Amino acid sequence: MKRIAVIGAGAAGCFCAAELRRRLPAVKVDVYESGPKPLAKVAITGGGRCNLTNSFEGIRSLGEAYPRGERLMKRLLRVFSQEDTWRWFEAAGVPLVLQDDHCVFPRSQDAMDIVHALLRKMEGVNLLLRTPVHAINPDLTVDGEPYDAVVVTTGGAPKGLPLLEGLDLEWVPTVPSLFTFTIQDEGLRALMGLVVEATVSLPGTPFKADGPLLITDWGLSGPAVLKLSSYAARHLHDAGYQAPLSVNWLSLSEAETRALLEELSAANPRKQVSNTPPAGLQARLWNYLTVKAGLRPDIRWAELGSKGLNKLVNTLTQDNYAIAGKTKFRDEFVTCGGVALSNLNPATLECKQYPGLYFAGEVLDIDAITGGFNLQAAWTTGYVAAQSIASK
Ligand SMILES: Cc1cc2nc3c(=O)[nH]c(=O)nc-3n(C[C@H](O)[C@H](O)[C@H](O)COP(=O)(O)OP(=O)(O)OC[C@H]3O[C@@H](n4cnc5c(N)ncnc54)[C@H](O)[C@@H]3O)c2cc1C
Repeated sequence: MKRIAVIGAGAAGCFCAAELRRRLPAVKVDVYESGPKPLAKVAITGGGRCNLTNSFEGIRSLGEAYPRGERLMKRLLRVFSQEDTWRWFEAAGVPLVLQDDHCVFPRSQDAMDIVHALLRKMEGVNLLLRTPVHAINPDLTVDGEPYDAVVVTTGGAPKGLPLLEGLDLEWVPTVPSLFTFTIQDEGLRALMGLVVEATVSLPGTPFKADGPLLITDWGLSGPAVLKLSSYAARHLHDAGYQAPLSVNWLSLSEAETRALLEELSAANPRKQVSNTPPAGLQARLWNYLTVKAGLRPDIRWAELGSKGLNKLVNTLTQDNYAIAGKTKFRDEFVTCGGVALSNLNPATLECKQYPGLYFAGEVLDIDAITGGFNLQAAWTTGYVAAQSIASK
């Protein structure tokens, strides 16, 4: 092993190169980067703060975090986990903090600390900036240069990857993930700024997500919507981003919602329904929902009757909207699809068809919800590719 090429100086490529440098100090590692700077995207992750991993505490099954790549990530996280990420970056001189929402950031809240730490660990690596790779061949030549191993870490490729055209690889068509929903409902939009713990779902499909739901001036956003956009990325793409959406405002079942309303009614028979919101619902939103349920604005709990109660239960548990398009969430998005995992040996990330060729990061058909899981996938897969090469 004399020369290794890494294609792409993003999160996965730089992490892989740093690990190759540590494990194989005598081997020449060339990192090709088409842009003028390494780690340009990492520098702007998490709004410039870099949410580099997650404690995974809120995750019941790994598929919740990784809608694509769950099985492979389960296996690879045993080799390089979120705890390993924490240790790696702290040992590299970046103290980290865990937020209440389980997201991990540099204590400085500055993504550049992550960039600088990676660059320090890459010292001795040959970084070739403004050097796009055009073709990788089965004999492991990169634009005509011969290598003993090649790691492709070119990130999400919405339009496919021309540099892989000379290779016979299975490719999963790419679509965007992590976006917010445009909803043409003036009443809802007038509530912009409100955040509610809710459950959103696409009726007639298995896609459902819960968490904070943010009402915006264009529709709906927040972690619940971003998660749903990730779970249903392909479905929504195929539907042209036009689909019915259902909101369960209290994340309770119909029976639980009914019981809650009956309690409210029993405790406040003389009060106006529109002035008595259930705990957890802001007065403005409750008002909007009672109007949407078709209730008279001055109706009192004692006058509601079973018909009125049914209408309220329905509006609270299955409030229907129409998704009329997608909108970017800050500039964050990831690509769903890419190099099919079936091409790879799952233990090493080496290509079955082309020994010596490895893949890591978002170029693979692995992507996650927001919260640091995408960068964790980049660190983990970059680590495993480097370890596999070094152990050859
Ligand atoms: C604005 C934004 C914010 C985000 N925030 C977070 C966050 O806080 N936490 C989180 O977990 N995830 C976040 N993500 C997602 C995360 O950044 C990506 O999943 C991650 O960067 C993927 O790493 P990668 O190395 O696979 O790809 P990238 O980081 O995209 O790197 C790929 C590199 O390859 C280069 N390249 C491509 N083609 C070629 C070629 N032919 N030749 C040479 N070089 C090439 C590109 O220029 C690029 O530098 C965010 C994404 C965006 C867009």
